Amino acid sequence: MSKDIDFQQTRFIQSGLAPKDWVEDSGLEVAFVGRSNVGKSSAINVVTNQKSLARTSKTPGRTQHLVFFEVYEGVRLVDLPGYGYAKTPIELRDEWQRRIVDYLSSRKSLLGLVIPMDIRRPFTPLDQQMMAWTGELQLPVHILLTKADKLSRGKANAVLLDVQRNWLEKYHASVQLFSASKRLGLEAARQQISNWLQNKS
Ligand code: GDP
Repeated sequence: MSKDIDFQQTRFIQSGLAPKDWVEDSGLEVAFVGRSNVGKSSAINVVTNQKSLARTSKTPGRTQHLVFFEVYEGVRLVDLPGYGYAKTPIELRDEWQRRIVDYLSSRKSLLGLVIPMDIRRPFTPLDQQMMAWTGELQLPVHILLTKADKLSRGKANAVLLDVQRNWLEKYHASVQLFSASKRLGLEAARQQISNWLQNKS
């Protein structure tokens, strides 16, 4: 088994929406993308063991940029803009969508995507749309069923099983339970990201 990558030194390097503001497309990247307010920033923060690397917010939809973090030289985590925030003006929403599709389809350094979904509401229509794109692009996906602490252990496991049985036939991905607040599933998430990065480096 490969040794886990140490994510603790991860630091912000750059952010932007337009491709000219993205980090040069060399090296290796794993990106996080998900519905607004699903716990994506909290997941990035616990994975990197940093309190406020990715900005969490009570105001969903605040992170409008692609945010690049460097784990170590040539290895990055990328926080993609959250989708599905109802109050986002339509023009901005269209632009984000274009940029995300643009990024996913063109990015050579992208090895895999972590998609957090709220365990109480996984596979919303926008999540399904995202899964369909990643399927077309043949991008590896790892799903975090976030806020698992909001359900009893039995209910959380039932959702996990349901996702495995009913969704992952259609959309190819791996999936796990996750809770940023309880640090549940943290090692499994780190391991998956490490595997992607190390199988390539
Ligand atoms: P993002 O918009 O997807 O980046 O979501 P955030 O990480 O900012 O989290 C959105 C809200 O969910 C915040 O109020 C967080 O405190 C809360 N949250 C995030 N992760 C968890 C979790 O594991 N458990 C619980 N109970 N709440 C969480």
